[in-house]
Amino acid sequence: MIKRFIDKVLGKRRRSKPAGAREPVRYAKRDHGIDRRDISHAALRTCEELHRAGFRAFVVGGAVRDLLLARHPKDFDVATDATPEQVRGVFRRSRIIGRRFRLVHVMFGQETIEVSTFRAAHNASSDEDSANTDEHGRLLRDNVYGSQADDAIRRDFTMNALFYDPEAEEVWDYVDGVNDIRKKRVVMIGDPEARYREDPVRMLRAARLAGKLGFSIDPATEKPIAELRGLLSNVPEARLFDEMLKLLLSGHALECISRLRSLGLHTILLPALDEVLRAPESAKFSTLALQRTDERIQADKGVSPAFLFAALFWFPMCARARELEAKGARPLAALHEAMDQTLERQRKTLAIPRRLDGNVKELWLAQSRFEQRSKAKAMRLLTHPRFRACYDFYVLRAEAGDASVEIAEWWTALQSVDDDAREAMYLSDDGPKKKRRRKRGGKTSGGAHTDAASDARDDGVDSDSSTNGQLPT
Ligand code: ATP
Ligand code: MG
Repeated sequence: MIKRFIDKVLGKRRRSKPAGAREPVRYAKRDHGIDRRDISHAALRTCEELHRAGFRAFVVGGAVRDLLLARHPKDFDVATDATPEQVRGVFRRSRIIGRRFRLVHVMFGQETIEVSTFRAAHNASSDEDSANTDEHGRLLRDNVYGSQADDAIRRDFTMNALFYDPEAEEVWDYVDGVNDIRKKRVVMIGDPEARYREDPVRMLRAARLAGKLGFSIDPATEKPIAELRGLLSNVPEARLFDEMLKLLLSGHALECISRLRSLGLHTILLPALDEVLRAPESAKFSTLALQRTDERIQADKGVSPAFLFAALFWFPMCARARELEAKGARPLAALHEAMDQTLERQRKTLAIPRRLDGNVKELWLAQSRFEQRSKAKAMRLLTHPRFRACYDFYVLRAEAGDASVEIAEWWTALQSVDDDAREAMYLSDDGPKKKRRRKRGGKTSGGAHTDAASDARDDGVDSDSSTNGQLPT
């Protein structure tokens, strides 16, 4: 039975082998080209120590794939034939984590290496990410250990099932993954339909990895998705959110979203986001936000999920605030209500966790304060604990034509000059601001609400001013 499965998995070339279908193809250094120096010291040490203790140990999964593609791996995982307890016994600084899927975290300074024991496939959805979902009765079955070959075929795609032995400098391939990487294609291990049914998140992983790596999706791997995409609605929201975050923070978010679209998965995972990216008024800003996020990640700079969500949902939030105001709500109340409603609405599909709400709102609320450039107010904003993020958000809006470029430049300059020059830059307290507060009527904008909020915060009053034509209408 297992042999039949493997034969199916391995395809013609391997099937023609007379015996030992479970023997991997072993690639020597001259064939795989991985340079040992590109592997983290911590991962090398982990493998070394396990070898010394008499176990087998390989770098596995995404890291091997990335190394073969001459990419910089995000993290390094190790697979071994030692049980979690045995691994724990080898490393003083280690701990066993997970209940459904037990792993060992081995710590070396700042770096943590995830060490998993070779496992066999099983019926329930099985990967590490779902460890916090349904745990009733599944605990033991998720920890069915197996051989190295079993461990290869329980993985999702052939490119993700490769093992690298740092000592022999060999890549072990049970599933023809090296060739699929060379051909730049995402190929499911085993019967794609069955594997998606087992774990529908694999559909999203196919889109994400294809987008991130610039791979095509093998036709047989792609085919069942059209029919099975509805299964994603049974996946726990928290897990979808994790996957969504991985996608948005992959460094290739725009490409991944376009893959989701072509697979018809966008309406399930990202209905709200899809709307934002398509609506003419918000498309430019949200696309730019994703583009900048991609650039920052590719340049190894940090990105905060709250910033990204604040950017993606800024226009819908402002539009909602205007609607509420048109129905008679006072600007400040409309703004707060709109923020809550927007976050609540996303939560239904995207499951953005509540813990991010505070930071998202903070960014939204700070926006109108950039227009107030008197000494007192500017200084107060400069000392905002998250000033940098709020400023970046304003600059991004200015770039998208949604806020004043002149004001953005003013703030940029303010941060780079000395105190004397700053004094000369501040606007007078009762100059532009008072005029703005008196101006009434005409087009009400999203910014009007944030203006109201900051006036209220700064002055301790609930202002009903409606100003600022630069913000989204
Ligand atoms: P990334 O570079 O984005 O982290 P990755 O392939 O390393 O990509 P992880 O989520 O870190 O993705 O998973 C590590 C490995 O675990 C994968 O390479 C794959 O072998 C296996 N894996 C992850 N998710 C699944 C799944 N849903 N089904 C089967 N195997 C999975
Ligand atoms: Mg990984």
